[in-house]
Amino acid sequence: MAFTPEDYKFMKKAIRLAAKGTGFVSPNPLVGCVITDRDGNEIGSGFHERYGKAHAEINALDSIRDKSALLGATVYVTLEPCAHTGKTPPCALALRELPLARVVIALQDPNPKVNGGGISLLREAGIMVETGLLEEEVRKQNEFFLHYITTGKPFVTLKVAQTLDGYIAAPDGSSQWITGKEARARVHAWRAAYDAVLIGRNTALTDNPRLTVRHVQGRQPRRIVIDGPLSLPENLNLFTDQFEDRTYVVTHNEKAFREKGDPMLRMLSPRSFQGQTLLVHAREGHTDLNQALSVLAREQITSILVEPGSDLVRAFIRQNLADKLELFVAPKLLGGGTRAFIGLGIERIAEALKLSRVSMETIGEDILITAYF
Ligand SMILES: [Zn+2]
Repeated sequence: MAFTPEDYKFMKKAIRLAAKGTGFVSPNPLVGCVITDRDGNEIGSGFHERYGKAHAEINALDSIRDKSALLGATVYVTLEPCAHTGKTPPCALALRELPLARVVIALQDPNPKVNGGGISLLREAGIMVETGLLEEEVRKQNEFFLHYITTGKPFVTLKVAQTLDGYIAAPDGSSQWITGKEARARVHAWRAAYDAVLIGRNTALTDNPRLTVRHVQGRQPRRIVIDGPLSLPENLNLFTDQFEDRTYVVTHNEKAFREKGDPMLRMLSPRSFQGQTLLVHAREGHTDLNQALSVLAREQITSILVEPGSDLVRAFIRQNLADKLELFVAPKLLGGGTRAFIGLGIERIAEALKLSRVSMETIGEDILITAYF
């Protein structure tokens, strides 16, 4: 099917609109929609703004005052209109009641509850449906959702900031401020986009981070700390600041969990330190990250930005649990300290872990390398 330059223009706008929902629609996908009249003039647009609220198509329809303009109209939508009743009635049913000529869809929804169902409903109503326009852009825009819906696990990104010679911390253990302020702003924008930020117990102890969104506008993600022994001090920022109820602790210490995590206490005092402690199995003496990801997925966490020390880098990579790497390289040398990528169990060049879809960007004085595992 050949798409016109106008088709591209309107779908690009729909994708831009979809992005405005970033951070607010999870576990739903980002979706944008543009509607044109039969002469190809834009008459309405909308996007999925917030989980549980109206879908993009409905917001776009609501933006049109004169509904007679819908005779022979074209709807551009980044994701297949839904065919199942979720928090809202199915969009495909609303669209098929309208005198539309055409619906252009970037990506068929792989959600088993939809997956072609929306397209069928529209075609049965005699509406021409075309798919695949700018599909790759929409796949990338919704990489969290697509991963979550097809694997049942959150999309996991490792964020590492290292010096030119590969160190993430100096010999004295200090690790903050390796990168410049532009890179830090980018990290904060990511925090606002991911459902959760995850750190290990050593980082929690050493840096006592807040993991909040500060240098950009955006919503506060949930915070996860892997604390195997369940013995982190309760006065850390993660447990005492205004977002303490958005902090999860994952442990494998059942004894300490039973002592701290009285379920009645949790019900009575949901904002207490015990409120969000998750118990998973141990795996070779450490917290089973794979199981932790499954449990967190059930909490509707579809994406996790891991801000790891070298222990967590090693664990996520060796257990094949990381999907993406965001590697900042600062133009600095330390000549010693802690490396991020050690102990991967690789002996020969031929065994090297090869990443794919690599891209590079200069951010302030630093370089950002993005790649997929
Ligand atoms: Zn819908």
